[in-house]
Amino acid sequence: MTENRHLRIIGMHCAGCVASVERALREVDGVASASVQLLTESASVTLSKEDVPASRLIAAVRAAGYDAEASATGAEMLKRLAGDRDAKESLRQHRQTLIQALGLALPILAVDHFRHVLWPHTLASQTTALILELVLLVMLLRSPAGAPILVGGLRAVLRRSPNMDTLIGMGVFVATISSIFGMFVARDEAFVHIHAAAMILAVVSVGRYLEAKARLGASSAMKALARRAPKTARVRRGQAIESIAVDDVVVGDLVIVPPQSTIPVDGVVVEGRSGVDESMMTGESMPVVKSVGDSAMAGTLVTDGTITLRATTVGAQSTFGRIVELVANAQSGQTRMQRLADQIAAVFTPIVIAIAVGTFVTWMVIGGRTELANGLRAAIAVLVVACPCALGLATPVVTVVASGMAAMRGILVRDGAMLEAMGRVDTVVWDKTGTLTTGQLSVRWARPIGSISEAELIALAASAEQFSSHPIARSLEAQARRHGAALDVPTAFELIPGGGVCATLGGNEVLVGSEAFLESRGVEVDRARRVEFPAGNYTITAVARSGVIQGFIGLADTIRPSAQSAVERLTSRGIQVALLTGDSEPVAREVAESVGIGTTLARQSPSDKLLQIRRLREKGRRVAMIGDGVNDAAALAEADVGVAFATGADVACESAGINLIGSTPHLVADAVDLARASVRVIRQNLFWAFVYNVIMIPAAAMGRLPPAWAAAAMMLSSLTVVLNALRLKRRGAAFQPE
Ligand code: ADP
Ligand code: MG
Repeated sequence: MTENRHLRIIGMHCAGCVASVERALREVDGVASASVQLLTESASVTLSKEDVPASRLIAAVRAAGYDAEASATGAEMLKRLAGDRDAKESLRQHRQTLIQALGLALPILAVDHFRHVLWPHTLASQTTALILELVLLVMLLRSPAGAPILVGGLRAVLRRSPNMDTLIGMGVFVATISSIFGMFVARDEAFVHIHAAAMILAVVSVGRYLEAKARLGASSAMKALARRAPKTARVRRGQAIESIAVDDVVVGDLVIVPPQSTIPVDGVVVEGRSGVDESMMTGESMPVVKSVGDSAMAGTLVTDGTITLRATTVGAQSTFGRIVELVANAQSGQTRMQRLADQIAAVFTPIVIAIAVGTFVTWMVIGGRTELANGLRAAIAVLVVACPCALGLATPVVTVVASGMAAMRGILVRDGAMLEAMGRVDTVVWDKTGTLTTGQLSVRWARPIGSISEAELIALAASAEQFSSHPIARSLEAQARRHGAALDVPTAFELIPGGGVCATLGGNEVLVGSEAFLESRGVEVDRARRVEFPAGNYTITAVARSGVIQGFIGLADTIRPSAQSAVERLTSRGIQVALLTGDSEPVAREVAESVGIGTTLARQSPSDKLLQIRRLREKGRRVAMIGDGVNDAAALAEADVGVAFATGADVACESAGINLIGSTPHLVADAVDLARASVRVIRQNLFWAFVYNVIMIPAAAMGRLPPAWAAAAMMLSSLTVVLNALRLKRRGAAFQPE
């Protein structure tokens, strides 16, 4: 079994930092993969061995020049996010750094100004003032606004992975040395950049403070989600009812949930009846009535009654825990665009250093020694303006905002790559049962053949289906129980996806499934009896015992009321919509016609479905397959994006890139809209981040950009990227179902 470890990483600023931390973690023995997120300042590490202690991971991060703390699970991490402690603490630190930076930089600027006013032209008469400035600058360099950048930058160089700190640190360092040279050796004002060095550090701390603030905003959807995590549960143990922490609830506990309170754990209702508001998980505002036998999800709200649940999953394994984990990991998994940006960022820093050196040399070659000062100034500006910070933030900030917003509506995107893939989809293929239809089939009629009675036929089928989670199986079982039939337990059981089941009951082999499936097992399905079937389109399930047909059962499904408008929404976005089902032709056609789908393929086995998806992809189509998560796993995995309607029980279907909790088909259209908007914003961000560098670096190299302005421009560019991503949030209102 693979194990995951989560760490909180302290001290990262940009894509370069993310890359160094990731590399450091990956190099630890026993680590299979590591993904680091800048926005949540966290890392998740997949281990290939079981005995890798967190301390070894932390040591590796420290050796790379950052700090780390262990946090056990993604759920725990989000719980802390809910309390805002980490983010607020980090913001507080940024604020303090900012105050110190301004406290030292502003006096430097003031002294600098007055020295020019009081003693113009003569550097000699300014010596006292200059020395005062220099002393203040040294204090600034040693403060939290300076030292970490210089030290971090140097360490990065020594590790041969220069980063943003390297560029700023070099800029500040060259400015300081140049100033000292100007004051004491050349005795030339043109070399003195003390105020610029101070400005750079001040602007960087302002920028980092604002960025930390924006980051807090970007993850607010995730926090809202985490805040819903229930904290205590009322548990009946023996006669007593105790109120205990949610983490202490164990599977099997009887949990009492009074009206207007949040369900603390996943469970099955064993007593009582109440409306349950699941909107917080599914976005669907209509309360669902739950009574004995129904399952309920943690995090949803009991409205009018009191129910008692038997806890089925708790803690990190619960629906809620897994959702939180999914969302927490949603920023991992790089998009194609991000991979490109990172590759560029990795070679970017050395290139910038080369450009800075080249700038200096060019100025010297063209202008000779007289241009020494200007050459230095331009080189400093190049170093400072070119930080690849915006490039690194461009994608993750969007992924975080978008996946958080999506999760609030019950759309769980596995990672950034899946979000991107969904944004590019041009073909949506629907499975029928449980997606366009409710998947809650009802038994409409039974036609026994031979001596068996109707009730016996249904009980036989239900007994054979006991271990299957297929909608047909569930409805057969419900029907049998409604009539109070006692079900036999199969001694052997085999499930044939897209066909049916084969079970051994009382020593006899019982087959339940489609007519085609029974025929394939050598059963003579007497088609002549079909004339006796009631008129209408039914999903027909055939039952055979010991190779002899026992009868047929007709089931009907209900088309989801919003299916038609959801399909319309997709079509209006230029998306081709198709239906791919294992059910029979007439049933498929009826559903397709009533929801407005033109292309229909019926009687598709799971492997047929996979081939159809593959064929579409080979034609160059970008396909989203919408399934109900239980079967159809192969087709879900084959598509560019698999989208699973997951029920509470099987949320986080492994083969799907997107899980939907909730039942309205509109979620698919919502996901497409949100993903398209995200891809658009990511493109804009990357575009602006590139354009910024393309314009600014030449301007700096030509001496048109003073170093202090270069620092301001650099910070502005990364802020733009963050703010642009936050715009998505305002669009959030547009994702309400119509
Ligand atoms: P869909 O494409 O509608 O989701 P499936 O691929 O799950 O349908 O199954 C295709 C057909 O196979 C069903 O319409 C049904 O006739 C039969 N079938 C599959 N699984 C079962 C089962 N567990 N019990 C009875 N019939 C089944
Ligand atoms: Mg299905």
